[in-house]
Amino acid sequence: MAKRPLDDPRHAEPAALRPILRRLRETMAETDDGQSRLDKIVRHIAGLMVAEVCSIYLKRQDGSLELFATEGLNRSAVHAMFMRRGEGLVGRCAELAIPINEPEAQKHPAFSYRPETGEEVYHSFLAVPIQRSGNVLGVLTVQNRTRREYSDDDVEALQTTAMVLAEHLVSGEVAGSGTAAALERMQSHVVKAQPISEGLALGHVVLHEPRVAVTDLTSDDPDAEKFRLDTALAELKATLDELIDQGELARAGEHRDVLEAYRMFANDRGWQRRLGEAVESGLTAEAAVEQVQNGSRTRMLRQGDPFWRERLRDLDDLSDRLLRMLAAHKDGGATRTELPPDAVLVARTMGAADLLDYDRSRLRGLVIEDGSGQSHVAIVARALGLAAVGQARGIMERVERGNAIIVDAESGEIYLRPTPEVISAFSDKARFRARRQSKYDSLRGAPAMTRDGERVALMINAGLQVDLAHLKDSGADGIGLFRTELQFMIASSFPRLERQTQAYRAVMAEAEGRPVVFRTLDIGSDKTLSYMPHEAEENPALGWRGIRLAMDRPMLLRTQLRALIRAAAPQELRIMIPMVSELSEILTVKSLIDRECELALRRGTAIPEKIHFGIMVEVPSLLFDLDGVIPHVDFVSVGTNDLMQYFYAADRSNSHVSGRFDPLSPPFLRVLRSVVEAAARHDVPATICGEIGGRPLEAMALIGLGYRSLSMAPANVGPVKAMVMSLDASRIASHITTLIDKGGGSLRDELLRYAENEGVEL
Ligand code: PEP
Ligand code: MG
Repeated sequence: MAKRPLDDPRHAEPAALRPILRRLRETMAETDDGQSRLDKIVRHIAGLMVAEVCSIYLKRQDGSLELFATEGLNRSAVHAMFMRRGEGLVGRCAELAIPINEPEAQKHPAFSYRPETGEEVYHSFLAVPIQRSGNVLGVLTVQNRTRREYSDDDVEALQTTAMVLAEHLVSGEVAGSGTAAALERMQSHVVKAQPISEGLALGHVVLHEPRVAVTDLTSDDPDAEKFRLDTALAELKATLDELIDQGELARAGEHRDVLEAYRMFANDRGWQRRLGEAVESGLTAEAAVEQVQNGSRTRMLRQGDPFWRERLRDLDDLSDRLLRMLAAHKDGGATRTELPPDAVLVARTMGAADLLDYDRSRLRGLVIEDGSGQSHVAIVARALGLAAVGQARGIMERVERGNAIIVDAESGEIYLRPTPEVISAFSDKARFRARRQSKYDSLRGAPAMTRDGERVALMINAGLQVDLAHLKDSGADGIGLFRTELQFMIASSFPRLERQTQAYRAVMAEAEGRPVVFRTLDIGSDKTLSYMPHEAEENPALGWRGIRLAMDRPMLLRTQLRALIRAAAPQELRIMIPMVSELSEILTVKSLIDRECELALRRGTAIPEKIHFGIMVEVPSLLFDLDGVIPHVDFVSVGTNDLMQYFYAADRSNSHVSGRFDPLSPPFLRVLRSVVEAAARHDVPATICGEIGGRPLEAMALIGLGYRSLSMAPANVGPVKAMVMSLDASRIASHITTLIDKGGGSLRDELLRYAENEGVEL
């Protein structure tokens, strides 16, 4: 470990912080009007920081900055001088939310000269953002006549002062109407995110592992605060050791590397020393954590080294943990949040198991700052029918528990503290969706038959116990893809033979004779098991995953096959293998199945009456050997999620490229056609089990290509069934052939037009 930015050698004893904080607190407690309190504050700060000028600029709704109080600049400019958004060094500080430290401010290209302030005589300039919950409320500046580079301690002291000031601005009535500070608590926000599970949720925020809002910032009893800090630090370290040593990583949903990084930071002497110093300077233990975190953030970002930028998130999480521990002690023990009946979970990151821990009957939606659509938690969210979005950048900084929130997982928009107009528009939308859903419910018992009498099997994708209820609710014909790895992923250690057998038996019992296709473990890529060591790979999607991994760990696969055979016997069993690239893999797995059946018979236990053996078509090499491979299998299922990613060389979980190519383009449709045609040549059924099977327009095209079985998320069965029942299969078949043969780019618009002209319900 070569770099230790937390232990910055330039760091010395904090300067005048303690008296500043004391003065600030005293002034804020006074009963004067807001303006006189701000005037006093700037006077104190200027005096204690040995600066000739101290000014407070507050941000207005339009993003401009208003000079609100000053010591040293012309007082006539107060409330009369406005800087446009981004204007000058003050505007730059607010926009970038970073300190600006300039010994020769007037020489800086961004300097904006404002004669009304009389600031031409001042050379050195230091500005820090006044921030709360990540939002910039204004800027605090100091200036000096002499050319002076403010020290790191000065910067930190001013930052801490700004942090304390921000809290007072929001809670006290000093900021005046129209400022960002006054609006902070009420302001509604729209945050753009990525849909990961379709739906619409109107509800109230519940923070998953919330960031503790620090409200008590200063204390008169540094010894007591030091004791609290030391106790929480000791507890933090002990918890991390325990998590790492006991291997409970799966339940915590955390990766070992991350915890190791946390442990490294938690033991960092520099970090601990700085926390101790912050407490000695008069901050509460909580405020010390926040202040040191702000300082570390600035330093780490300044390093410009991607390694430290990555670590910043770890350090943020670690600070959050420490804050939660401090809060828990204060409240006499943390209690798990009571869920409101319309809870929308908001999380920085979340594992699938964490989500399953919540009371599902009260959950409506999920917002994750990091998560992608292919993540495990997204799969669970879809199984639970939650409206969910991921990549909601900055959301954690903006929300507070109990805030009203709307998650539109169609457009990917999140409305925080929505206005009554927005709520009413979305209530209408929710009613419309509910009406549409009740129409789908009425189709539940009807077979999915096209207008010209073609029956299309609509199956669901599943993988968890919670999915099973959807089999009946959706009126699906069976489970076209049971992702067995999901149960492995939420377990904390390898499920043993007996556990697996019971789980598969339960699935078959729930299916009541409807077909269930069990896919063998598809571990690897983004689906890792925390209890199974897995070397970091440069290209995990092209790496050791699916059947490749299973063949290198034959005991794993054999145990699973044995469990499946036991669970199904004497009924029929459907087994499918993922990520097949060549015939030899198929032959190996088939021989393993034969061997397990032989062993069972020798032991005198029953075996399934028939085993249907299928493969996923998702690796392009298979496309060039369809006639060689298909005669060896009983069915094929096209995994379009992976096939798309390998066909277009576009990472399915990378939002920059995952939506870039349209599956409704002639090259990809030709590929899908070649699979269904090859399967027909060998009289073997072909299914689609990737996400596109659940989208009505894409499903229409797939039926046109000849697919008669589609497997999808349960919520999509209704919409796809409605589409099927309004479609003429032979007409779409000839239309799509013409379109594909013509070539060109995406056929989406043409297919939409076709659907509209033909009255196909989308
Ligand atoms: C696919 O790749 O299309 C598929 C259905 O499998 P998974 O999404 O589990 O990789
Ligand atoms: Mg796949």
